Amino acid sequence: MSVLVVGAGPAGLAAAHALARVGEPVTLVDKSDRLGGAPILSGYAKLIPSGEWARDAIGGMVQRVEGNPLVTIERSATVDAFEGEPGKFTAQLSNGRTLACKAAILCTGFTHFDPVNKPEWGFGTFPDVVTTTQVEQMISSGKGVRCPSDGRKPQRVAILLCAGSRDRQIGREWCSKVCCTVSANLAMEIREELPECHVYIYYMDIRTYGLNEDLYYWKSQEEFKVKYIKSRIAEVTSDGQRLVVKGEDTLVKRPITIPFDLVVLAIGMDPNVDNRAIASVFGVGLHKHGYIARASAYTGMAGTTRPGVFVAGAATGPETIDDSIAQAEAAAIAALGVARESAAQAAA
Ligand SMILES: Cc1cc2nc3c(=O)[nH]c(=O)nc-3n(C[C@H](O)[C@H](O)[C@H](O)COP(=O)(O)OP(=O)(O)OC[C@H]3O[C@@H](n4cnc5c(N)ncnc54)[C@H](O)[C@@H]3O)c2cc1C
Ligand code: SF4
Repeated sequence: MSVLVVGAGPAGLAAAHALARVGEPVTLVDKSDRLGGAPILSGYAKLIPSGEWARDAIGGMVQRVEGNPLVTIERSATVDAFEGEPGKFTAQLSNGRTLACKAAILCTGFTHFDPVNKPEWGFGTFPDVVTTTQVEQMISSGKGVRCPSDGRKPQRVAILLCAGSRDRQIGREWCSKVCCTVSANLAMEIREELPECHVYIYYMDIRTYGLNEDLYYWKSQEEFKVKYIKSRIAEVTSDGQRLVVKGEDTLVKRPITIPFDLVVLAIGMDPNVDNRAIASVFGVGLHKHGYIARASAYTGMAGTTRPGVFVAGAATGPETIDDSIAQAEAAAIAALGVARESAAQAAA
């Protein structure tokens, strides 16, 4: 009997490794045929705050788990049914397998905000309005940052923060936590690759929280000459030649209209679109915004509302990779407690 870990992003990979390291067998199930979660599936470039390439950092976590004889990996699979009690659960997988497991950890992550839900910002209408993940892919593929419409090097780039976060009008009331720092990092990467290019960041507030303030917010301005505009964006349109970002400069309270070659939307972290199905299969509660609910803020933060089923990472709300890993290791200890308790009971 193993511990079931659902989702093989940074959180699931960390949970599986932590359990295997102390001799506990694990079954790791992912709906994708590739392991690594969002950083691999979406082709992130250099990660904040380590500066390591995602393919190396998260790729290393994948290799560590793939090579472990205590970890059984089920790719392209989901959990269709889950029954029983702590120490004695049965899971039915979509690939026809039935699995006995002592505990489960949900590491099913998030879904990137789809900016077609914010049509006034031009995504889907203008090919040169792109997302931060698309720019990450341009950089990680080695092709460099280009305008998709004609492949030219942009001379002026605008990055619009909070695309699909902190926006009550479209039902996204949360802050996605990483996008300010990720955007400041991308702005510096663009300036490094294209030193002639002017990069502007449009923001409501800057949340390069904790130790990221000087490394990203100040460094991007002082060393890389990235310009920050505190603003409310009304719309992204086109004058026939260039994109035009219209809004209000909220510091001087004046309308602003500035042309750009490339507009980048810093997309947020929505709840996983599968969360309703996951909640129903595993019998766990959801947070009011649709993330998987924790049992308690302090005394059982790895727990869900169902005993024996734990949760970690961006499944619980917007999280960074390092916090997702820390939560996954905590969830692994909690699951191990259940596994060891049931083994002791069986032996008694
Ligand atoms: C544009 C952008 C850039 C970012 N850059 C950084 C960065 O540089 N540094 C940083 O710390 N954070 C960054 N983040 C945040 C980072 O993506 C998350 O912290 C991280 O991916 C969370 O890991 P996770 O394992 O919890 O979830 P995920 O990475 O979302 O992995 C979840 C896994 O679960 C699988 N899954 C989903 N549903 C199911 C299901 N029903 N059944 C089975 N499997 C399922 C998925 O296929 C996936 O493999 C960024 C986020 C965005 C939006
Ligand atoms: S981290 Fe920054 S860009 Fe992302 S939602 Fe929060 S304030 Fe907006």
